[in-house]
Amino acid sequence: MIVVKVGGSEGINVDYVCADVAALWRGGERLVLVHGGSHLTNQVAEALGHPPRFVTSLSGFTSRRTDRCTLEIFEMVYCGQVNKGIVERLQGLGVNAVGLSGLDGRLLEGPRKDALRIIEGGRRLVLRDDYTGKVERVNKGLLDLLLEAGYLPVVSPPAISYNHEAINVDGDRAAAAIAAALGAEALVILSNVPGLLRNYPDEATLIREVAKERVEEAIGSTGGRMKIKVLGAAEAVAAGVGRVILADGRVECPVRRAMAGEGTVIH
Ligand code: ADP
Repeated sequence: MIVVKVGGSEGINVDYVCADVAALWRGGERLVLVHGGSHLTNQVAEALGHPPRFVTSLSGFTSRRTDRCTLEIFEMVYCGQVNKGIVERLQGLGVNAVGLSGLDGRLLEGPRKDALRIIEGGRRLVLRDDYTGKVERVNKGLLDLLLEAGYLPVVSPPAISYNHEAINVDGDRAAAAIAAALGAEALVILSNVPGLLRNYPDEATLIREVAKERVEEAIGSTGGRMKIKVLGAAEAVAAGVGRVILADGRVECPVRRAMAGEGTVIH
């Protein structure tokens, strides 16, 4: 079992990802595909006159400000265009893919943050109308049902809160939770960089492997999104996933290349 997460950054080649996933699937590999959609969400939000805002938590993490309107735009893009685009491609490649959000069948469940404590312009603020949270539970039975019947699940945020609200959750963390629940041999996280770079954006400084005990060192001064990815990867390995590979989603055969060790392997 391989869980593949394809990011939503500019430059990722979804056609290459789907072709590779389909080839592996037809070869008998069991797979779940999880996807993002951040770049397209930003564009659609701009076009709809509700431009994206990002907030920084007290601990220094950046996340999308998700008010109700943003949540609805997020759903249009993630559960709509991106999810259905991937399902359509896979169907064209002979794979019977089924698209699901974390809401469907309570696939991804967890708490909504009741208060988001942020720093803005040096001031501390508390937001209470934000629809963000984290994944704590995965409906493994639903995934098993689909996989056993020969369907390839294509999963996207949002998740569902314990109070039944849609919540924006980190796609990498969601994929890690799915990989852990399924006891996956590998979690492949594809983005628009070759992996964790010691000196971002210099691609010649790719870090090839990191033991999960040494991620803090490897992250070093890396900020923002990549830091969350690496921490999430270490959590997944600690939860029993064989290995996590942060790899390039811009190239042909991205999943097979990652499985062959290209990228940053966290084990
Ligand atoms: P995705 O939506 O594709 O998952 P993210 O935005 O979550 O992508 O994370 C990937 C981004 O992290 C890269 O596009 C890059 O700009 C950024 N980044 C920051 N620091 C690093 C680093 N040290 N190594 C690699 N990427 C980094």
